[in-house]
Amino acid sequence: MAESDADKQRAPRYCYPSTYSAKIPRQSQRDTSILSIPSDRDELATLVTSLRRHLQRQERVGIRFLWGTGDAAQTNSVMPEDETQLSGTEGDLFSDSSATYKAQTLEELRTAIGDCRRCKLWSGRTHLVFGVGNPEANLMFIGEGPGRDEDLQGEPFVGRAGQLLTDIITKGMGLRREDVYIANVVKCRPPENRNPEPDEVASCEPFLKKQIDLVKPEIIIALGKFAVQTLLQTKAPITKLRGTWHSYHGIKLMPTFHPAYLLRNPGDKKLVWEDIKKVIKEMHGSNA
Ligand code: URA
Repeated sequence: MAESDADKQRAPRYCYPSTYSAKIPRQSQRDTSILSIPSDRDELATLVTSLRRHLQRQERVGIRFLWGTGDAAQTNSVMPEDETQLSGTEGDLFSDSSATYKAQTLEELRTAIGDCRRCKLWSGRTHLVFGVGNPEANLMFIGEGPGRDEDLQGEPFVGRAGQLLTDIITKGMGLRREDVYIANVVKCRPPENRNPEPDEVASCEPFLKKQIDLVKPEIIIALGKFAVQTLLQTKAPITKLRGTWHSYHGIKLMPTFHPAYLLRNPGDKKLVWEDIKKVIKEMHGSNA
């Protein structure tokens, strides 16, 4: 276990813009006719920081263009057909700003996400699959994205892979599904269950980050290659990552195989059980 309590205290659980003073001119230097009250200045700073982070995130996944310039210099994403795809709620200019940023509860976050059209997955969904479980869970499971059953029911992990996950939680760990929190990297079903694409992850990731920030789990179990690679920002294979502790912004993270993989490769269930036993030990340790 790499994380001590002291580390956890020090490590930001989720980084929000915090560099207002570096970005905004001092009172004496700026045009006070435009920004005459401090709240305007703070709001502008938040927007600038938020835009910068949004553009950096887009650039990380290979998207480099500015709306309205007609200059799609380099992109691996599909351009939205109309501007409605950019926003899900009024005033939500950037994916990590305003209502999402301000949400204090999971309900507020769900409201902020709204009838989301921030990426192209919205057009194929039946339900947006937000997440389910105890909003104060110590343990959070994170999968890839909804499949067919989840899309139809609006709840994560309710299909065959979900039944296996439920068995792991109930029979393996002695917990109830309602004791843990379950979410996915992307909230809408990718067509034909393909992997989510970089622009889809970039649009949805702030919501997962915020969910983690609100639930504040002590332990995350990342289910499968896609979830762990997204959370840890690595390309390392799941076979290398699973079974050892990692840290996600100070939260202990255990990667293991995805239940859908186990349905295809039941021989590897014993490896998952080894990983789960490490989690159980850690949970008992922190309760002792
Ligand atoms: N697979 C996932 O990654 N998530 C689900 O919710 C269901 C299947």
